[in-house]
Amino acid sequence: MENRQIKILAIDDNQDNLISFKALINEAFPDARIFTALNGKQGIEHAIAEDPDVILLDIIMPDMDGFEVCTKLKADKNLCEIPVVFVTAIKDDKEHRIHALEVGAEAFLAKPIDASELTAQIRAMVKIRKANANKRNENERLTTLVNERTLLLQQELVERKRIEQELIKAKEKAEESDRLKSAFLANMSHEIRTPLNSIIGFSKLISEKNSDVEAINKMKYFIEYNSNILIKIIDDIIDISKIEAGIIDFTMESVNLTKLLADINIIHKQLIIDYKKEHLELYCHENEADIFMYTDKFRINQILSNLILNAIKYTEEGSVEYGFDIVESNIRFFVKDTGIGISEKNLKKIFDRFYKGTNHETIRGIGLGLPITMRLIEKMDGQIWVESTLGKGSQFYFTLPFIEAKISDSSEQVKSKAYGLNGKLVLVAEDDDGNFYLTKRILEEQGAKVLRAVNGIEAVEICSKQDDIDFVLMDLKMPIMDGLEATIKIRELKKDLLIVALSAHVLEEAKTSALNAGCNSFISKPVDPDKLLALM
Ligand code: ADP
Repeated sequence: MENRQIKILAIDDNQDNLISFKALINEAFPDARIFTALNGKQGIEHAIAEDPDVILLDIIMPDMDGFEVCTKLKADKNLCEIPVVFVTAIKDDKEHRIHALEVGAEAFLAKPIDASELTAQIRAMVKIRKANANKRNENERLTTLVNERTLLLQQELVERKRIEQELIKAKEKAEESDRLKSAFLANMSHEIRTPLNSIIGFSKLISEKNSDVEAINKMKYFIEYNSNILIKIIDDIIDISKIEAGIIDFTMESVNLTKLLADINIIHKQLIIDYKKEHLELYCHENEADIFMYTDKFRINQILSNLILNAIKYTEEGSVEYGFDIVESNIRFFVKDTGIGISEKNLKKIFDRFYKGTNHETIRGIGLGLPITMRLIEKMDGQIWVESTLGKGSQFYFTLPFIEAKISDSSEQVKSKAYGLNGKLVLVAEDDDGNFYLTKRILEEQGAKVLRAVNGIEAVEICSKQDDIDFVLMDLKMPIMDGLEATIKIRELKKDLLIVALSAHVLEEAKTSALNAGCNSFISKPVDPDKLLALM
């Protein structure tokens, strides 16, 4: 112990006493460092600065006596562990000794100091100090350990809570999705049966002899109207499947947005009449100049039509407005209505597949319009959002990157020139009479002449005999010889003849096998006249 450099602070107002302390200590502890102070204030300052192992403290001093100094030292959390030994000339003073112990002193020495007693006391105090330091270190180590464990446990608890929450959410989602699926199937059956009933019913009635022209026209209208509803349902289901399988692709072209919005207006104004919504107005915020954007016309039309159709469906009176504005590199479309609105709770659900609001049971829908719309917009690098007040109306917005296009890139021009089919000879290979007459009419209205083959063999025969055929429309599914085989055979005879495949299969595989067989292009049934003519 003597070898270790110990630090001793002696506080005494008498210089002589301090000198004799030093001499005594030096003798017993030659390596010790000794600090002295002539009053309590200075003593405390030294204690703070030097952190001694022992303080020898006189009791009677001017200004601040030893008791007060000791009280202050013991009250300070950084100094309280330094052992204090009181040194006084008052021998056998019981009261002072008791007081000294009360204020926290560890020991007591009487003057004149006995060298061996001082040495023994200092050793004992150094031991106490060391023990205190060890205790404090151990305490600190334990506290750190406890804190670390507590933190770990807290983190574990937070993680467990998070996992628990996620499990609850996943369970709720699974239950919700199950509920939605069941609701979807029930709803779907209803949504398909309703137009089918109409189609079947009117198809029977239309063939009755006593119907007048007006009645027949009305029935035709209902058949067409309900057929379109069925097609929309099938299109929606195929679209969502394609989107989810990641096989949706976009055909980019220059699109005249001003014209597109005007066309949408005509179609939806008719819809308002069909829905008999006499107190509902449709406004298109038209641009004076034509604005051309490079985008997928069919999809833009689909997105806007979905939103406008919803706005019309869910608005009894007031207005539906739509339009767009261009802000820097983005185009922002809006569709606003004054309809039933959507509650805040339901706003989160409306983009979920098969979600259908519950406060409008009688309004038709299968809950796919908005999820398709949202996914299409996202695939086109855009965003959609909605603001709505229950009972007041909704505002849907979506943005897309605005890529300005030139008119000359446009297929719009092709249309304005009509389709240029005058005098063209078209072979339609189609076994179904209804489909054939429909296609024939579309073509003849454009001045084309039409030949028919009812199977693949006939198609090959006609092509081999006639050199003046301009196009072949080839149904892929026909009896005796299907369209694929017929195309392969025709290709062997006529390398340059234009063959367009027609098929009710809308999936990519059908298209790929048609192109592989030698078709120049592919179009899905039911045939959209505009699409067919533009393609030809
Ligand atoms: P649906 O075919 O049922 O209309 P959507 O996916 O297009 O399917 O819409 C989902 C639901 O969102 C609707 O059933 C309806 O509750 C709500 N919704 C959509 N658009 C509107 C709107 N403009 N006003 C009020 N509710 C709307």
